[in-house]
Amino acid sequence: MIRYCCDLCKRELDPEQDLRYVVKMEVYAAFDPMMVEEADDDRDHLQEIQEILERLEDAESDQIGEDVYQQMRFDLCSDCHKKFVRNPLGQETARAFNFSEN
Ligand SMILES: [Zn+2]
Repeated sequence: MIRYCCDLCKRELDPEQDLRYVVKMEVYAAFDPMMVEEADDDRDHLQEIQEILERLEDAESDQIGEDVYQQMRFDLCSDCHKKFVRNPLGQETARAFNFSEN
């Protein structure tokens, strides 16, 4: 049987009692179309982007891919899920706001 642990609090999740939440994140370098348009040689830039995108398709073992594109997956318990949804980026202000509930 596969055992899951919460990636935040490291608590082991009991498949019969605990709800497990899966968080999938995609982080990728954004290319602003306006900036590309303003560049003199926009054709080269578009080609560059095209090449990067092509590289992404088999980026699993490629180190360049890490800078441009990352996909992350986390398992969370229900408590950590609630905290995560309220404050997905872990901002300090939001953390202070949540403090009274703990
Ligand atoms: Zn947790």
